[in-house]
Amino acid sequence: MTWSGERGERGAAVRWEEVIVHPRVAGALRAALARQRMTHALLLYGPEGVGRTTLAGVVAAAWLCDRPERGGACGQCPSCQAARRGAHPDLLAVAPAMPLTARIALANLWLFEPLVVRRLTATPAGNAALRTTIAPTMAEGSVKDNVLPQRARIVVNFRIAPGDRVATVLAHAQRAAAGTGVRLGIVNNFASEPSALAPQDTVFAWLTRTIRRVRPDALVAPYLVLGATDSRHYAGLTPHVYRFLPVTMTAEDLRRVHGTDERIAVDDYARMIRFYRQLILDLDGTAVP
Ligand SMILES: [Zn+2]
Repeated sequence: MTWSGERGERGAAVRWEEVIVHPRVAGALRAALARQRMTHALLLYGPEGVGRTTLAGVVAAAWLCDRPERGGACGQCPSCQAARRGAHPDLLAVAPAMPLTARIALANLWLFEPLVVRRLTATPAGNAALRTTIAPTMAEGSVKDNVLPQRARIVVNFRIAPGDRVATVLAHAQRAAAGTGVRLGIVNNFASEPSALAPQDTVFAWLTRTIRRVRPDALVAPYLVLGATDSRHYAGLTPHVYRFLPVTMTAEDLRRVHGTDERIAVDDYARMIRFYRQLILDLDGTAVP
């Protein structure tokens, strides 16, 4: 479920009593909610400033409420409290950052998936997020400039997308190399299966809340880190391994990672310290929902 939260001092509205909605619209929505028969997507269309976002929040809160009353949220249960804070793990804030057409496409993937995939794959980063990537990293042939190579060797680095496996990637490469005489193998046990996706549950909600405390304007959404990181060694300890770096990264910064002039801004360095301080405070067992 996606929505965008405009959170005032008291947090987002979650109860019907907190908003003014045309009785016919409210009646239809509440009836559908009470029957638990909601459509898979709702498009709220209207001019700026009439409260479409607020209404979306009320509908979402009613749907997620632990003790809903006549198609409305109770406003008291843990789910309602999390929705009010904008920290409900099942409420994903993506809408404000997206144009209307993109929102319609994403809400209707059954129809628009090919279009969405084409748009996402148009940028190198988007393309890499959707596919297993292939990068030749090392090549060697002759050992002397006047000697023909008796054998040549090339190392190809694959970044395996979730859903792919080492075995399927190797099989793909073997099919592609069939008939060329090239022999393929896996280099020294460096191969590892793609990491599991971290769950978007209460722990993700804690992380979201801490991020927003440090950076209130942040749009928090899950994403896929493309590179292998050492965090994979923690996979045996917990499924909750979130590869989050509390610094601002531009496309230019990303190019510098593990390259020339790799750096982070001084402001980001300070923000990173504030983030970890806040995270430790939030996880001390008293502030956790
Ligand atoms: Zn509730």
